[in-house]
Amino acid sequence: MKYDVVVVGAGPAGATAAKVLAEKGVSVLLLDKHTFPRDKPCGGGLPMRVLKRYPYIQKNGLIESLSYGISIHSTKLLHQADLDNSTPIAGMVLRKPFDAGLVTLASEAGAAFQGGSAVVKVTTNPQHAMVTLEGGTIIGASYVIAADGVASHMARQLGHPQDSRNIGACVLEEYPVPSQVMDQFFGDQRRLHIYLNASGIAGYGWVFPKKEHLNIGIGEFYQALGPQQPKHNLKTAYAQFLDLLRTQKVIPGTIHPLSPKGGVFPTHPQRRTYGDRSILCGDAGGLTQPLTGEGIYYAMISGELAGKALVQALEADQSTVQELALYQRWWIQEFGHDYKRYYQASRHWQSPGETIVKIIEKDPKVQAIGLSLFTDHIMNKDIRWALGRRLVIGIFKSWFGRL
Ligand SMILES: Cc1cc2nc3c(=O)[nH]c(=O)nc-3n(C[C@H](O)[C@H](O)[C@H](O)COP(=O)(O)OP(=O)(O)OC[C@H]3O[C@@H](n4cnc5c(N)ncnc54)[C@H](O)[C@@H]3O)c2cc1C
Repeated sequence: MKYDVVVVGAGPAGATAAKVLAEKGVSVLLLDKHTFPRDKPCGGGLPMRVLKRYPYIQKNGLIESLSYGISIHSTKLLHQADLDNSTPIAGMVLRKPFDAGLVTLASEAGAAFQGGSAVVKVTTNPQHAMVTLEGGTIIGASYVIAADGVASHMARQLGHPQDSRNIGACVLEEYPVPSQVMDQFFGDQRRLHIYLNASGIAGYGWVFPKKEHLNIGIGEFYQALGPQQPKHNLKTAYAQFLDLLRTQKVIPGTIHPLSPKGGVFPTHPQRRTYGDRSILCGDAGGLTQPLTGEGIYYAMISGELAGKALVQALEADQSTVQELALYQRWWIQEFGHDYKRYYQASRHWQSPGETIVKIIEKDPKVQAIGLSLFTDHIMNKDIRWALGRRLVIGIFKSWFGRL
């Protein structure tokens, strides 16, 4: 068997890459170790900018519900900033139908999909790529895309080991809840909640209401912990977080931990996200937003850019590593500069977030900028300056007791 491109992993990164390639007439095989639909531990929150860039998500009914507001709770719960919008700020998805929907779209575009096929080995050289499936089948290709998620075996085999300090860990659970109860607690607006340093962790807790599901989780960022500092027990912290939410009547009193799931996410890109005949996408390339752990947007963009770079390489019949370096240049142009600032900020996840939430609570301009990060922009230069200025003013006002 030989294809132009083999994509390993059919999450948002792999499925998007396969769709882009197939639409350009490239012969592409999308492989996943699971048969689909399969679930993936995730909050399932997509800021509106994702739906603007990929309108086919909404057009194909892959969104469960829309949220119009968010409440941010400070570390000691002394402050609460409520941000509301007349148009949606986020779309909520259930990963099982969402990921399966993206794979269907890639198949409809002409990609071959084979679920239940774990790749155990990948090799590349300047002339071609080769993957071996469990059971021994060997598939040849001109190029391979490694999109096999955070603990990427493909990335490791291709010579890009993940740095274990730059990851985050989560515990979460998604509870089915009747829509009338969801309406009662979260209204039509399906307000989201973020709790800074929930249960004392170096990270945050979230409450993501969907149409008939309630997704609750906590996540800690290891880059924010000192080298000798122990990680928190996230299962215990999760149970404490639910106690708080029930006491505050944010969630129904019937919600208790049943079978919380763990998950990890990368918080730093690989130094090189390409090599001989190979490209790393999404979590396999370490491409997420390091301050929040948001990854679906970055997985889809990197999949799209990988597809475009390989279409170009196939058209030009180019096989040099330098040709694939274009892919890395493109994603750096899109979000590389933001990434650095978000990463710096993420190292402060241990600092109590009282003043920052107080500033957001009191300053409508900061609220407007915050909302625009959901709806329109990633952190461009103009926003960075405006936000930085408002935060500095807020901090001074707070020092002098005038906030
Ligand atoms: C708890 C948690 C909550 C999160 N919440 C959000 C959120 O609310 N919003 C958001 O945007 N992001 C969130 N993220 C991040 C997001 O889930 C990931 O960034 C995103 O799924 C990455 O997509 P991907 O396609 O790179 O990888 P994945 O979605 O992980 O897909 C990788 C695929 O590769 C397959 N695979 C693995 N190994 C092999 C193999 N050897 N052979 C064949 N197939 C293989 C897997 O079966 C899987 O289907 C969260 C992450 C975690 C852990």
